[in-house]
Amino acid sequence: MSRPFKCRRIAYIPGVTYFKPAGIPLVELEEVVLSLEEAEALRLKELEGLEQEQGAEKMNISRPTFQRILASARQKVADAVLNGKAIRIEGGNYEIAANRFRCRVGHEWEVDDIIVAPSACPECDNTEIQPVLAAGYGCGRGGHGRHGGRR
Ligand SMILES: [Zn+2]
Repeated sequence: MSRPFKCRRIAYIPGVTYFKPAGIPLVELEEVVLSLEEAEALRLKELEGLEQEQGAEKMNISRPTFQRILASARQKVADAVLNGKAIRIEGGNYEIAANRFRCRVGHEWEVDDIIVAPSACPECDNTEIQPVLAAGYGCGRGGHGRHGGRR
C-alpha cells in the first residue's frame, strides 16, 4: 500500500540546521528532527505572519495539512526548548520552489533534479545558499542522506 505522495512546496532553506543546548553532555543529549516542510510552515506562520490559509497556499497543500505540519513543528520546537533537546532540521517530503540557487557571493547555478537541497556552492563552497524563486519546479524527497545530508 502506498499513500499518494504530494510535495509540499518550500521557498526557504534554513542556513543553520543544527541547534544544541549549552551545558548538556553529548551522551545525554536527545535530538528532535524538524523536517524542512515543518520549518517552512513555522516560518510562514510565525515569521511572515501569514494566516494558515495563505501558508497552505504557499506550500501548495490543504489548510488541514498545513495545520497538522505547523502543530507538529510547534510541538517539536517546544519539546526541544523546554526539555533541553537538540534540533536538527533535515529531510521531509518537499519540493523547492526553484531549481536555481544562488550563494551569498552571487554565483548562480541550476540543478536538474532536486532530491536534497544543495549544501554548498559548487564554485566557492559557500554554504549560505538560497533558492532563486520563480523558476521551474523540482520535486523530490529529502532525507536520503543520513546525518547532515552532505552531497
Ligand atoms: Zn559561490
